Amino acid sequence: MSKSLLLMEVSCPKCGADLTEGEYIPLDGVLADGTGHSVVKLSAYFGDYNLETDLKIPDGSIMNFSCPKCEESLTISSTCGACQAPLASLDLKKGGHVDFCTRRGCRGHALGGFGDVNQMIELINRITDTPNY
Ligand SMILES: [Zn+2]
Ligand SMILES: [Zn+2]
Repeated sequence: MSKSLLLMEVSCPKCGADLTEGEYIPLDGVLADGTGHSVVKLSAYFGDYNLETDLKIPDGSIMNFSCPKCEESLTISSTCGACQAPLASLDLKKGGHVDFCTRRGCRGHALGGFGDVNQMIELINRITDTPNY
């Protein structure tokens, strides 16, 4: 399967704006302790932990993400199963949504990088258009 198949097209759950730009998803990020604020570009590839930002994000710190278009918070009421930090959520253009942990360094931080196996397979199928047998 080629890497480009795992590129996720996401949109804002609040305003519906397309947020994937090339290989990145630029979001407004604020460190939860108030020490920094900048654009944080998450990798749009499924399960990829890479991100680009000017901010120094210490491992273990929590970020509050918001939509760069409507400025609404993307944090949802669920918490990460691995570290209890708040989760943020983006809508997938193909349907459903993808949640990610807001704590840097958590294994749930990558988009789609956390969840049970069945959910992961379902998500991959949705992204790659693989039919369900
Ligand atoms: Zn928005
Ligand atoms: Zn976590």
